[in-house]
Amino acid sequence: MYKNKYSGLFLKWPKLLQNSWPKLILLLILTTFSAVLVALPKVTGLAVILLLVLPTLLALIFEHRAFCRYLCPVSGFLGPFSKMSTLALRNKSQKTCDHCKAHFCQKGSEKGWACPYGINVGEMTESLDCGLCLECTRSCLYNNVTLYKRPFASELGTRNLSEAWLTIGIFTLAVVYSVLYQGHWAVVRDYVNILDKANWGLFGVYSLIVWSLALLIMPGIIVLLSYIGVKLSKLKNSTKQVFLTSAGALLPLGLMLWITFVIPMLFVNVTFVMQSLSDPFGWGWDFFGTANIPWHQFLPRFVPWLQAVLILIGLQLSLRNLRNSWLKNQIKSWKLMLLILPVGLFIVCCSVAMIVFFTN
Ligand code: SF4
Ligand code: SF4
Repeated sequence: MYKNKYSGLFLKWPKLLQNSWPKLILLLILTTFSAVLVALPKVTGLAVILLLVLPTLLALIFEHRAFCRYLCPVSGFLGPFSKMSTLALRNKSQKTCDHCKAHFCQKGSEKGWACPYGINVGEMTESLDCGLCLECTRSCLYNNVTLYKRPFASELGTRNLSEAWLTIGIFTLAVVYSVLYQGHWAVVRDYVNILDKANWGLFGVYSLIVWSLALLIMPGIIVLLSYIGVKLSKLKNSTKQVFLTSAGALLPLGLMLWITFVIPMLFVNVTFVMQSLSDPFGWGWDFFGTANIPWHQFLPRFVPWLQAVLILIGLQLSLRNLRNSWLKNQIKSWKLMLLILPVGLFIVCCSVAMIVFFTN
């Protein structure tokens, strides 16, 4: 029983949907229509209103933050990357949690609300589900919750198939977005241009390709490579176990690909940032002497180098995590090498292809 009083129906979220599948599907819908979403102010406004109304409505029906936990596409995108954060909320003492019967963090107390994401900090081993609202630091009457600093990108693997699919989906979308918006092929952009050209036929083809890539082709490739790794190494591990681990290893490279994708857009707008900083309200101020500087691209020659370095960092971290995921299993080093070789080569090939793409 919860120790706080809630309004609304407070129904349980359907068990069948207590996973990352709904988030992945909504993320794919949002990204499929992203060009319309950012180009038409009316659609942007509608999306923002929906993001306010839907969580409120669902909060009146289901317990806690059902929308944030199970549906929010933004959470679907950001959640997996929280596993790479250098900041993590955990308990101070596992022993105290083991002896705790009240579970104030999960059920609430007179000092604070129950965790809006339904987490019992005593059982928490990874950051994906945590919204870092810090409510449990108040509700735990044993003062047993704290924030830790940890190495970058140190959480490994994925817990279940929906989480693995979500991670692979985010990785795939980074590649798709890069090719679509920063590729040299203007014809590719025609496929998403339903605003100016109303190319609904081409848009249908584009949607089919993106959804197939994210839901079938890329996960299928990782499953196949995991299977080959198991066969090569002759280990007893199941293909599913290798797949879940391998999917998690894509995360660092995925994050770096997203940063790499954003850099050119960011650098193009640096002039406007400098102008706004100098005259934040457009009232004719000029704090830093940059209010009226003409537009120029920020360090254009530096961009491909930076992109290449970022992808190399992602490659190194992904390969490191791929190997580290198996260290606790005490597998002979040559067997481990054979087990992770196929997925490792896939990560290397993706990195090389994206470096060539961005630097040409
Ligand atoms: S974090 Fe606090 S309330 Fe939660 S299980 Fe541990 S001791 Fe109990
Ligand atoms: S920080 Fe918030 S979301 Fe995370 S475990 Fe604590 S109460 Fe739950």
